[in-house]
This record gives sequence, structure tokens and C-alpha cells, in this order.
Amino acid sequence: MARNIVCRDDNRHELVERYLMGGMKRREKEAFAVHIKSCQACRQQLKESEAMLKKLQKAARKAGWSEGDIALLSRLYERQGMFSHVNWRLVVIISGTLFLMILPFIWWANQPETKMKLLFSLTPDEVLLQETPPTRGELVEPFRRFEAGEFDRVILDIEDRLARLPESDLFQAENLLGLAYLFEKQPEKAVIHLQKALALVVPEDEGRLLWYLANAYLRLGDRQRAENHLQQVVKKGGPFKSQALYVLQRMEILFD
Ligand SMILES: [Zn+2]
Repeated sequence: MARNIVCRDDNRHELVERYLMGGMKRREKEAFAVHIKSCQACRQQLKESEAMLKKLQKAARKAGWSEGDIALLSRLYERQGMFSHVNWRLVVIISGTLFLMILPFIWWANQPETKMKLLFSLTPDEVLLQETPPTRGELVEPFRRFEAGEFDRVILDIEDRLARLPESDLFQAENLLGLAYLFEKQPEKAVIHLQKALALVVPEDEGRLLWYLANAYLRLGDRQRAENHLQQVVKKGGPFKSQALYVLQRMEILFD
């Protein structure tokens, strides 16, 4: 099988990707190198994939990835290898980054309404998926209103209750209040309350709070703080890393 490379439209991308990213054993690799000499379509695909990989590495470098992490980008398949220690987290992050960042980026960079879209990158739906609504206590009602998109009422509710809330509710209250201000287009106040929430957050949730804060700074037009917070999100790793990289990649265009 390794001797005869047969490429079709539906396997060419995968062939080239494995060739480029360490996914072929020696004999298959040699056969592919021979095949590519006489196959215009595979040469074209290789050229595109190499350019995309370079772009991705450049973006990762800009976003503060370590050289070690960046090197892994071009050894995606080797990591999967024949052995059991598949670094699935890295695979997910990288494929997420590829799809989230590079592919739409090329399309997106040419769109006139780009800047506006980016300013609203965080949506209430996205937020609701991340929060755990309380089942009892003072915050049940504000959560319900948040879910209904009544951000002005959430603000009134929580601001009114804040002083007499039990300490155990404070994180969730500041978090929700900050987000409500964010979606009410009052980013200055969003920053104040999200900072307070950040001071109370458990370490596992820090990346998420930093991601919200970065969004608030973006809406404030504060590039430096937005970048700083996005880079912290990237450093933390976890589920918000690829989103943060995606926005970092767009920064140039957003603020130019
Ligand atoms: Zn071919």
C-alpha cells in the first residue's frame, strides 16, 4: 500500500497533512515524495498546507506560545504515533486553533464588517453554557433574568442585593453583574465587577474570568490590557486558549 499512492479529492488533504506533519512512515513518505513529482494537485495542496502551517506558527509565536509548543504544531501526527500516550488535549487545541483561527481568519480578514463582529465575540449564550445557575438563594432570580436576556434587570437586582448577600454568593454575584454590564454595553462597569470576581475565583475558573475581562477591555478599546489578559488566558491553557489565540491573531486588524 505504501508503494502506490493514490490521491483523490477526498483524501488529498489528509495525505498532505500526514506527509507534512510527521504522520507517514519512511516507505510511505518516500512513495509520496515520488508521487508528488508527477501530481500537480498534491503539489498545490502541499504548498497551501505549508503556508498555513507557517501562518499558524507565526500566530502562535506572536501569542506567546513557547518554542516547544510551537514546534509541536508541525509534529501533530508523531505525537499521536503508534504508542499509547496520545496527547489528545494538544490535538484538540491545535485542530481547534486551525479551524477557529486560520481558516476563518483568511476569509474574515477580507470582510468589511470584521471589526464590529469581533467586538461582539462573546455572546450571552456562550456565557450561559459556562456558568452553573444556583438552585436556591438570592441569585436564582437574577440568573433567570440573565438567561432571558434582561440584563438591565439583572443589574438592578444584584446591585440592590449586593450589600446583604452571603459571602458564598459574592463570586457568582460579581461575575454575573460584570457580564450583565458587558452585555448592557457598559464595559467600564463590567471591568470593575469582573475584577472583583477575579479576586474571588477558584483557580480552575481563572482562565474563564480572564477571558471575560479580555472581552470587556476589547469593548473598551483598551488594546494593551485586552492583549495582556488574552495572553494570560493562553498561558493558563484550557478551553479558552484557542479562542484567546483567535482574538490575539485578529488584534492587528482590530486596532489598526
Ligand atoms: Zn496526488
